[in-house]
Amino acid sequence: MKKVEIAVIGSGIGGAMIASLNQKKDLILFEKDKNLGGCASTFKRFGEFFNTGATTFVGYEENHVIKKIFDEVGLKPELIESHVAIRTIQNKKIVDRVENFEEFLSNLNSVYYHENNRIFWKTIKEIDEKFWKLKKIYFSKYSFKAYAKTALFIVELFKEFGFLLFKTADGYINEVLPNISKEYKAFIDSQLLITLQTTSKDLSLLALSLGLSYPFHKVYYSNGGMGKIVEDLLKEVNVSNKEEIISIERFEDKYKIISTKDEYLASKVILNSTIFESSKLFLDEDIKKYYEKFSFNDQSAFVVYLKLNSKENFLHHYQIILKENIPNCISNSFFVSFSDINDEKLSHNGYSITISTHSKAIFWEGLTKEEYENKKEETKDFIINEFLKNFDFVKKEEITVSFAATSKTFNRYINRTNCGGKAITLKNILELPSCNTPFKNLYNVGDTIFAGQGWPGVAIGADILNKML
Ligand SMILES: Cc1cc2nc3c(=O)[nH]c(=O)nc-3n(C[C@H](O)[C@H](O)[C@H](O)COP(=O)(O)OP(=O)(O)OC[C@H]3O[C@@H](n4cnc5c(N)ncnc54)[C@H](O)[C@@H]3O)c2cc1C
Repeated sequence: MKKVEIAVIGSGIGGAMIASLNQKKDLILFEKDKNLGGCASTFKRFGEFFNTGATTFVGYEENHVIKKIFDEVGLKPELIESHVAIRTIQNKKIVDRVENFEEFLSNLNSVYYHENNRIFWKTIKEIDEKFWKLKKIYFSKYSFKAYAKTALFIVELFKEFGFLLFKTADGYINEVLPNISKEYKAFIDSQLLITLQTTSKDLSLLALSLGLSYPFHKVYYSNGGMGKIVEDLLKEVNVSNKEEIISIERFEDKYKIISTKDEYLASKVILNSTIFESSKLFLDEDIKKYYEKFSFNDQSAFVVYLKLNSKENFLHHYQIILKENIPNCISNSFFVSFSDINDEKLSHNGYSITISTHSKAIFWEGLTKEEYENKKEETKDFIINEFLKNFDFVKKEEITVSFAATSKTFNRYINRTNCGGKAITLKNILELPSCNTPFKNLYNVGDTIFAGQGWPGVAIGADILNKML
């Protein structure tokens, strides 16, 4: 049995960040898949490269935890700024989410005018700015010291935001934007669905602010694919890909790990598997039970991948908001990301396009192979048709490759059927999973752990975890 001090299981951005921060230690990172990065990987199919899920990169700026982590490990990612972070198109109406507040506001007012637009968006932006300046962001459980440090963070939150913290997102929208049109509300909700995996009905004002302010930060395109950042992060890390961890068992004060290739004895284990999928790894009943108590969050993704041989110029990111729901999905919008025209890897032979929307794992279960394939084809065709309607200068024949992924595909490649954790609210904060566990030297990192959701949220978790190791 091989001995190791730290075993990181999974090369998602959470696993990759924590492994790179501890790369000088005796550490090994296991990745089941061939590609590194999980939901943020880049893969090759039909001779072309595609981003699996994540396409927008935010947080490479001062005062941001992502920049702090990258600086600490000496990583300078190859980024191209997306001057228009996201172009939203709803009923042919366009709003560009740009960093410049006045430019955004004037564009927004010309499409979704409301007399209180300035105050609404200004407040949202200010809350977001204040949040990223907080010094004591922390969340952990199971010891007096952990609860005390978490309490200090909550006190800092109260000091900064006061009673705003108790406001719900919908309450705030109704208060400041009374009689908001259905179309404008759909514009807000579909953006929240992307950043926070849920709509305003489930969120606090703080979460609403963080979710909607995403494009007020610098948004970047990663040259060479999102997976390139993860690969660069892991350059100095001892990585074993195509090696899946099958079981883990406590062995005295350590953990015995069995993989598809070997056996290891690790002093510390960091799981980058989702909180919902981790119980099946353990042979110990108490650890199994601990993970089983986190109820499954059935929020998944449906993704269409295209290769487009077009001479037109495109922005990096668009969001298309439709009147009706997408079949077999839980959303009426989809997010379209184009590879940068100068990206030699992804734009070789035309644009590489990743289109994603929200679905549920349950929609894809219990089907015969034929039923599954038909349902997948129906959803893919619907999305491609709507894509063509919204980019009416694109000809269908210019699409040279098209295929799709469901929760089943995600499960096959990266062991997860859900995509994203539960939204954080004041009500559920103490029930949230933390980076530490009640079991000594067993830790979690990733988007189903506090604070979750996208690169910035996962980075907060990795930063907190790093202080515990
Ligand atoms: C369609 C889609 C679009 C998105 N778009 C964006 C975006 O534009 N911007 C953004 O910031 N975020 C985006 N996100 C969210 C973001 O990509 C994820 O939150 C983030 O990448 C998750 O990171 P993670 O650390 O939780 O790891 P994951 O991505 O879940 O990776 C976990 C890794 O662990 C491996 N693993 C699991 N079990 C084992 C095992 N037993 N043995 C070995 N390896 C194992 C898996 O194979 C996987 O590689 C998107 C997500 C999706 C699904």
